[in-house]
Amino acid sequence: MVGQTGPKIKIAGAGPSGLTAAIVLAKAGYEVDLFEGRKAVGARFIGDFQVIENMSREEDALEMLKRFGLDTNFFIRPVRQAVFFDHRLRSQTVGSRRPFGYFIRRGSEGETLDRGLLTQALAAGAKIHYQTRIKPEEADIIATGPATPDGLAKEMTFTTSLPDTVWVLFDMNLSPGGYAYLFVLDGIATFGCAITRDLSRINHYFDRSLQRFHEMISFPIENDRTAYSFMNFSLKGSAQSGGRCFVGEAGGFQDYLFGLGIRYALTTGHAAAESLLKKRSYDLLWKEALGPAQEVSVVNRFLYEVGGNRGLSLFIQRAGRGDLQDYLGGGTALPGGSVWPFRS
Ligand SMILES: Cc1cc2nc3c(=O)[nH]c(=O)nc-3n(C[C@H](O)[C@H](O)[C@H](O)COP(=O)(O)OP(=O)(O)OC[C@H]3O[C@@H](n4cnc5c(N)ncnc54)[C@H](O)[C@@H]3O)c2cc1C
Repeated sequence: MVGQTGPKIKIAGAGPSGLTAAIVLAKAGYEVDLFEGRKAVGARFIGDFQVIENMSREEDALEMLKRFGLDTNFFIRPVRQAVFFDHRLRSQTVGSRRPFGYFIRRGSEGETLDRGLLTQALAAGAKIHYQTRIKPEEADIIATGPATPDGLAKEMTFTTSLPDTVWVLFDMNLSPGGYAYLFVLDGIATFGCAITRDLSRINHYFDRSLQRFHEMISFPIENDRTAYSFMNFSLKGSAQSGGRCFVGEAGGFQDYLFGLGIRYALTTGHAAAESLLKKRSYDLLWKEALGPAQEVSVVNRFLYEVGGNRGLSLFIQRAGRGDLQDYLGGGTALPGGSVWPFRS
């Protein structure tokens, strides 16, 4: 444990963004107090698989974690292949040479990302206060996650006899503005339906998407747990206000195309810590760190919405033609490289 004689810092929210900032600052000798509104870290999740995307930037996510000084003391597994389905259930296997993502788990128990980062924060000397909400103006770093429900997901985790599976179904009628997914690793499964429209009918879309997967393959569901969770998408020019840094989804940082916000959360949590340590502008640091990735995902989200199921089918076909990572990370027609099929 690092001796704590440095400046005092208060962080509101102990998700990936707040915990990353806490680890970096506590390791540098800051006296860090983390305030978490819930009883435990990761409490809005249920042990579900999520993916740290590895497409939007050249640097591999594992290298990035190392550069941030974060250990991989949590479940983490590379993803190199997936099957995408369109609304007619036409499938396309997509893959990449280097992993296009890393599966991790989210939640309060076991080898989740949340618990792993918490262990590192505590080992570095940070203190955590559960079931304690502080006002934003009392915190130096605001890491409180999504503030407005721009998107909603219903997820189920269960055990199953299915083999390892990474399936994603793109159908605007079954998951409006989103997608449905089935991930199975070592007999543990996550099924989810994420939508960005008609949020009050999430149960309907979840049930219909699950039925659609069952049309492709019948699979047993045991020991199931479900949860609802929302995400927010609100691009900001500045994430700094009154000397406070807004990190992760609290700052509107999110991948707008697929809602993959973890990498943004880790990156902005690290940038906020660096801004304090190096006395540099947080806005400049996160802009440097994220590059055009976030703006590109906004453009892609717009085109995703406009393209409908026909656009999604084209996207899937093209995604399967080469290396997924080159396709999703290397487009060039739109500023910063948009991948959407309508670019040509
Ligand atoms: C169902 C679902 C699936 C997802 N799948 C993926 C995926 O596969 N890949 C990916 O990259 N992203 C995924 N995301 C998005 C990802 O989970 C988030 O972008 C990420 O968790 C954001 O991290 P964060 O630290 O900003 O916020 P959070 O993880 O939301 O953490 C914020 C924390 O702050 C606490 N809090 C809130 N208000 C207060 C307060 N006032 N005071 C104190 N504490 C407070 C909360 O309890 C919470 O613990 C998914 C999201 C959902 C909902």
